[in-house]
Amino acid sequence: MNTLLTHPEPAHCPGPESQTAGKDESCNGCPNQSICASQLNKGPDPDMAIVTSKIDEYIKHKILVLSGKGGVGKSTFTAMLSFALAADQSLEIGSLDLDICGPSLPKILGCNLNETIHSSNSGWSPIYIDDNLSTMSIAFMLPNPDSAIIWRGAKKNGLIKQFLKDVDWGYLDYLIIDTPPGTSDEHLSITSYLKDSGIDGCLIITTPQEVSLLDVRKEIDFVKKVNIPILGLVENMSGFVCPNCKGESQIFKPTTGGGESLAKEFNIPFLGEVPLDPRIARCCDNGENFLELYTDSPATTAILDIVDNLRDQIEAND
Ligand code: SF4
Repeated sequence: MNTLLTHPEPAHCPGPESQTAGKDESCNGCPNQSICASQLNKGPDPDMAIVTSKIDEYIKHKILVLSGKGGVGKSTFTAMLSFALAADQSLEIGSLDLDICGPSLPKILGCNLNETIHSSNSGWSPIYIDDNLSTMSIAFMLPNPDSAIIWRGAKKNGLIKQFLKDVDWGYLDYLIIDTPPGTSDEHLSITSYLKDSGIDGCLIITTPQEVSLLDVRKEIDFVKKVNIPILGLVENMSGFVCPNCKGESQIFKPTTGGGESLAKEFNIPFLGEVPLDPRIARCCDNGENFLELYTDSPATTAILDIVDNLRDQIEAND
């Protein structure tokens, strides 16, 4: 079986490497169809060399943020990671929203969603949240924030290429890439466009309960197949700390040992547990920097420890 496929090829398969892969009549109903149609057998993309040379020249570190399922706080963590890194004024940070059908990162980062993208000779200008923190998302291209995006793989692939090739990011120390949950067209596109430049690694976000960990196992299998190093696993919503009495209770019970035990099982780094703090949700809704506003929260301490650990891992080789 081709390693990118999620299911075995059916008996009537024309071949995932064939010219008609994913488009042949016999592909209808096959669970691999979008993968075959969007990624396989397209021949070398003539823009690949341009993307690679631009990334090599301007972007030092690339980190993917992944989750097995939705609702585990992946975009929130991406925003926190971006804010935490940008707190170091010596760094230039870009935060790329790859969740094309559900772009929530700009709102969490505090962007004005009516902002539109400016284009110049040097490309699309990203939206700046701070002097050293910029972002790009399909959210800035919609006629209004409630517009639905119903795109097939090839169209998503084209936009992701533009995010890497046509956005004038300037020099970045870190590009943090927020991906949709699971393993879909967006993941395949970004891994193929960054294949030659290299991805420093991925962060996998989970919550403690088994229903989330089950999907994390699939995510780990995917990143191993596409050879992305795993920087570590983060357990989010790991206990609830009352902002008034500081007492801690468990909302999502780790019935099978939670993220730490899963990390041990797969021999990947466990970066830490981030407790629930209701003020995080409020900050996300208001586009405020939680880490700056609530320095005394145990969630802030946990996130900053994780970011320090990440920087140590990544910058050790600089
Ligand atoms: S989508 Fe078509 S080419 Fe791809 S595995 Fe299925 S049947 Fe084969």
